[in-house]
Amino acid sequence: MTLAPLHWDEEAEVVVVGYGFAGATAAMAAHDAGAKVLLLEKAPEIHKGGNSRVSANIVFWPDDVDKGKAYFRAMAGPFMDDIPEEMLDVWAKEMFANRAWLEGLGMTPVEIPYVEFPDFAGAECVRVLLNGEGPIGGERLWNLIEASVEARHLDTRYETAVIHLVQEEREILGVIAERQGKRVAIRAHRGVVLTCGGFENNPVMIRNYVSGLPRVFPVGTPYNTGDGIRMAQEIGADLWHMNNVSGPILSFKAEEIPVAQWLNLPHGQSYIFVGADGTRFTMEGEPCSVGDAHGKVKRHGQWGQQTLPLPIYMIFDEAYRTAGHIGKAGADWDVSHGNRYDWSDDNLREVAKGWINTAGTVRELASLIDVSAEALEGTVARFNASAKDGDDPDWGRGRATLAPIETGPFYAMELTPALVNTQGGPRRNAQAQIVGIDGEPIGRLFSAGELGSIYSFLYQGGGNIAECFAFGRVAGRNAAKGISDSGASQS
Ligand SMILES: Cc1cc2nc3c(=O)[nH]c(=O)nc-3n(C[C@H](O)[C@H](O)[C@H](O)COP(=O)(O)OP(=O)(O)OC[C@H]3O[C@@H](n4cnc5c(N)ncnc54)[C@H](O)[C@@H]3O)c2cc1C
Repeated sequence: MTLAPLHWDEEAEVVVVGYGFAGATAAMAAHDAGAKVLLLEKAPEIHKGGNSRVSANIVFWPDDVDKGKAYFRAMAGPFMDDIPEEMLDVWAKEMFANRAWLEGLGMTPVEIPYVEFPDFAGAECVRVLLNGEGPIGGERLWNLIEASVEARHLDTRYETAVIHLVQEEREILGVIAERQGKRVAIRAHRGVVLTCGGFENNPVMIRNYVSGLPRVFPVGTPYNTGDGIRMAQEIGADLWHMNNVSGPILSFKAEEIPVAQWLNLPHGQSYIFVGADGTRFTMEGEPCSVGDAHGKVKRHGQWGQQTLPLPIYMIFDEAYRTAGHIGKAGADWDVSHGNRYDWSDDNLREVAKGWINTAGTVRELASLIDVSAEALEGTVARFNASAKDGDDPDWGRGRATLAPIETGPFYAMELTPALVNTQGGPRRNAQAQIVGIDGEPIGRLFSAGELGSIYSFLYQGGGNIAECFAFGRVAGRNAAKGISDSGASQS
């Protein structure tokens, strides 16, 4: 616990920590409710926007509140019991309200077909929205939200990393931040809203909280390092949903590039993914996720987290090498910030860099990647037989996606698990207050977004951004009221 300093360097009524969709929404809601807002962002201005900016920019909109709740319950399945009915109610109503709110900001909703669990109760309510016509991603939604923030002339400070919450008894009085090597004490007269994202780029937290991922990299912002979780723990907050992640997806991580790169998987077919023992472990394919459903797979009739037999290699032949670029310059953080790596069309630049190993035979290739030669040769032979039969009895890859790996030289590229985002963080309640380990809200402390998201298990694409808007508004409105732990307004 950090006690109040003798001197406050800056002050505002509502302090919002982290400028992604959740922070932007909370800041606007607090401002619109009459509060003087200070928006603090750890990244420099050129890297602003967090995961929100580089996301696919799609929004899940349930077109019916009750069906939305039914679909949520079906997705949460056995992980539903810690989500109170009141919370689910607010989620569903605010998710429904998102469309009108976004239209009010100027969004032109364009629906795309994307129902992740069409057999689940309530699935017919699922609508997935883009802002205007155009490809998925492309920052069109981010641009709209950013313009809405700027129109309100909110006081925004970049390169300001919040490191502690200042607490007196059960009330949060403000924050301590670091700016240009200096500590700054910032008073929040009404409330603090934590919207500083997840812990995708905190390897130690990943190892502690998420099973089976000794190393993983973000495809989004590298600035989400679990700071909000640590700060919330420091003041006795409860945590929830820490083991739930969107991913892993198989991607490529170059040492010199801070985030993982999406794969492209050109239309050639003579490739497989193998695990540490040289055997296949999944149906390879677009969109490079392992399994569908944001990293969850259904095995033996039950949904669960996909596990990965690391290290994983993509094995392919000369025909595949020449079929197109395997690395993708996709909608990830690095691309959006102008550092796009120009992957060569024939993949030879990456072979020369040593990112892709090559050898004249599968046996020699196995020795380069420290995999049993017998196992890898056996796997390739079995896959080649399947490809010739047009049937993959092991993993069900479609006939049109199969071709034997037979024209040397042969190649192996290590694949890295990457996360789209984490869902865990401090537990929040229906008023978007952060809750202590005793189950009671901590005074004047709120949260929204992927920091302590409501999603405990399966996930419908577009749900995180929609939740940023839904609980961002609740958090901003309530912070502006200055709700204390007892629920009394003290503004
Ligand atoms: C490639 C990609 C595609 C995605 N596509 C979609 C999609 O289409 N639809 C969907 O619903 N979800 C999608 N997601 C997930 C979704 O984008 C995120 O979960 C959501 O945008 C998170 O918003 P947020 O505001 O909570 O956090 P973020 O947008 O990540 O913002 C958090 C901000 O907090 C800042 N910060 C961190 N620590 C501190 C600190 N100590 N002090 C101050 N600031 C701090 C960070 O720099 C960052 O700017 C995608 C994610 C990725 C990476």
